[in-house]
Amino acid sequence: MTASFEDEVRFYDPGENWSGVECSACGADAEEWWGDAMDAPAADGFKDLNTKAPCCGGTVSLNDLRYIWPAAFGRFAVEARNPDIADTTEEQDLKIAECVGTPLRKIWARY
Ligand SMILES: [Zn+2]
Repeated sequence: MTASFEDEVRFYDPGENWSGVECSACGADAEEWWGDAMDAPAADGFKDLNTKAPCCGGTVSLNDLRYIWPAAFGRFAVEARNPDIADTTEEQDLKIAECVGTPLRKIWARY
């Protein structure tokens, strides 16, 4: 297991597991505009993740969009490469978050 801190917020994507993204306000497929919506926040170190969704005009956080396969923004990650288990239990997830002292989002990434 490795833990890493980043100077700036980054996007943790699931790599080859990427399965698309939907608008959190209206549920429409957001894949078409998501890439463009990432550009401005990315250039600014993802300080502001709010964006106006072209599908419904709602203000949504890029972090709260419905990533079909989990993805997240953050500055801290705990990584386990090629874990020899199918998944962690909810209890283990809570324990890890408790140890770290902040809620965590689990991302199964494949590269
Ligand atoms: Zn929408």
